[in-house]
Amino acid sequence: MAGGVNSNFRLNISPTPLVIERGDGAYLYDADGNRLTDYYLGMGPMILGHKPQVIVEAVTSQIEKGILLAGQTAIEAEAARLVCEMVPCAERMRFGSSGSEVIQAALRLARAATGREKIVKFEGHYHGWFDNVLWSVAPPLDAAGPREAPVPFAGSKGQLSTTAEALAILPWNDLAALEKRLAVGDIAAVLMEAAMCNAGAIHPLPGYLEGVRDICTRTGTILIFDEVITGFRIAPGGAQEYFGVTPDLATFGKAIANGFPVAAIAGRADLMELCATGGVLHGGTYNAQPIAMAATVATLKSLTPALYDAIAGNGTRLMDGLRTIFASAGIPASVTGFPQVFHVAFGLDTPALDYRDLARMNRPAYVAFATALLERGVRVLERGAWFMSSEHDQGIVDETLAAAADAVGALRRRNV
Ligand code: PMP
Repeated sequence: MAGGVNSNFRLNISPTPLVIERGDGAYLYDADGNRLTDYYLGMGPMILGHKPQVIVEAVTSQIEKGILLAGQTAIEAEAARLVCEMVPCAERMRFGSSGSEVIQAALRLARAATGREKIVKFEGHYHGWFDNVLWSVAPPLDAAGPREAPVPFAGSKGQLSTTAEALAILPWNDLAALEKRLAVGDIAAVLMEAAMCNAGAIHPLPGYLEGVRDICTRTGTILIFDEVITGFRIAPGGAQEYFGVTPDLATFGKAIANGFPVAAIAGRADLMELCATGGVLHGGTYNAQPIAMAATVATLKSLTPALYDAIAGNGTRLMDGLRTIFASAGIPASVTGFPQVFHVAFGLDTPALDYRDLARMNRPAYVAFATALLERGVRVLERGAWFMSSEHDQGIVDETLAAAADAVGALRRRNV
């Protein structure tokens, strides 16, 4: 394997990418026999934790019926019905296999519907690894140009440079900048994480999403929410339900199937139907793979109000506990986001409002903290994100807080 891994996001993990043998509930067990409380949760999907019994049973019984059937199945219809019931914008939907991929479908639909080519993308927002969206995801600030008009910054070598010409990169949480750009009249879609959850965890400013919705409606621009992280995680209907703003199209992945490779695009019937009758191609050998659909149905049926309440309670306890630990150790840190997915940024006294604020955080100090936590049996992402599952109960949260207090003490003693 190139670099010993199968995704670049597993490459630069210190002290080394871990070899994991199994997961159970809130825990992972590595090849050296260590038990780790897991806040990676598969990079977000495992909202029910590792190996939930309902999913094990659902996929085990589905596999008895075959593997890939390349025809319509009752299980995919049931999964689609659940998505349409839960997600406010979902008049019609389609399944795919990864977030990156369904975002491409959303862009294609928006271009076909409007006859325009350009897409507004916001600095610091991640929409998958494909050439046409991997711009200005994590630009170094000295190469990013002025805040009001960021210079597109490539996320990878080998990326087709002309794809940047079809993007307008804007600062997020800034209505005036969007209003000005959309007035030109050449934008097919505005693509955004409705709450930033990939780079950090930043809420939209009050009125921002409503304002974006209004400008898009007035200018005939398609509003796309990338809910790959927020979908089914921060509320049954994702960020659009949480904030009460309905986009034209939305993309989902991760928590939709608790770890099975399932993604979805959903939205207005007239837009989605372009796939069927409007000449827009959307395909995929593994779309609506029946075993993954069984996992989707089992996951979505498990997402009860009681489950969200439990995660919210334990997640809030964890966020508050971390804030107290950092404050009493004199560490400037912001703990922001949602109890189901939050972000810790060292070096920020006030919560970030956009990527540029966030980029000022003290990454080396946070990596040292994450490493100290790992030594104490707690696994958190080095970029600062913490994902919660229904398996992280009060006892586990309290153990994590004890480990965090101990890790902070050790860093203080080493003057980190
Ligand atoms: N959008 C967002 C907001 C994401 O966080 C991710 C993945 N981390 C993607 C899109 C891409 O999804 P995938 O990795 O399934 O292609």
